[in-house]
Amino acid sequence: MPSPCDSIVLCRGDSLAQVVSELNLILLGPPGAGKGTQAERLRADFELPYYATGDILRAAVKEGTPLGREAKEYMDRGDLVPDDLIGRVIVERVDGADARDGFVLDGFPRTVKQAEVLGAALESLGRRLTAALSIEVPDEEVIRRLSGRRMCEKNGHVYHVELDPPKNPGFCDQDGSVLVQREDDKEETVRHRLRVFHDQTRPVIDHYLKQSLVRRFDGCRPPEEVHGHIRATLATLRLEEEL
Ligand code: ADP
Ligand code: AMP
Repeated sequence: MPSPCDSIVLCRGDSLAQVVSELNLILLGPPGAGKGTQAERLRADFELPYYATGDILRAAVKEGTPLGREAKEYMDRGDLVPDDLIGRVIVERVDGADARDGFVLDGFPRTVKQAEVLGAALESLGRRLTAALSIEVPDEEVIRRLSGRRMCEKNGHVYHVELDPPKNPGFCDQDGSVLVQREDDKEETVRHRLRVFHDQTRPVIDHYLKQSLVRRFDGCRPPEEVHGHIRATLATLRLEEEL
């Protein structure tokens, strides 16, 4: 049964993208919470540019750019790359013409310092965050999800060998490309990434709680349900702004 909030979203349908003047969103949560999975859906809903720092860094490593060369050793270990390195990349993106009507950030900010850099950059542009969407799942579920995560090597679409398998094992449903496993999705590295999340990224949630920007979602629900809850929350936020 859809909730009253769901029906607000559904009634507005595609026009929601135009009603919302500026939607500056960040997705928070441990690795494997489903941020990328939800971002793919939110991008389709709102036609917002999507900046995932992990994707940006992996592309830089693949291309062998100076950013990629510097980031690689941190990423291989499951550590965070230095704040100034990634901060500059994101500030340039949110300041770009593409992000004028809003953006979805995934994987940034991951430290309080990064949150402060983003806050200062938005303030200097006369803008502010709309919400910090926190997708919450326990550590054991993260390990189960990441050890089974597979990704299309061409378009980045994400699968899970048990929870969300492709129709043809090992190949993408969307374009038939090969599915690959990320190096840092090996269990030992995942456990390290989880420790990094608890030490360095949990305080970011506290940072945004103080600003009343956090909206929490149970990431253990099926992807479509999590998506429905996020859409309903964003519709409610917009209605509150209009009042
Ligand atoms: P993140 O971007 O937060 O690291 P992903 O979106 O890549 O996480 O999801 C991690 C893995 O968990 C993927 O294999 C994905 O298919 C699976 N997954 C995502 N959301 C859910 C969910 N709500 N329930 C079960 N599995 C999920
Ligand atoms: P992700 O794809 O979000 O899981 O990120 C993969 C890896 O990229 C992380 O383990 C870090 O090494 C690096 N990374 C991504 N985003 C950031 C960030 N905001 N700050 C520092 N390192 C990052």
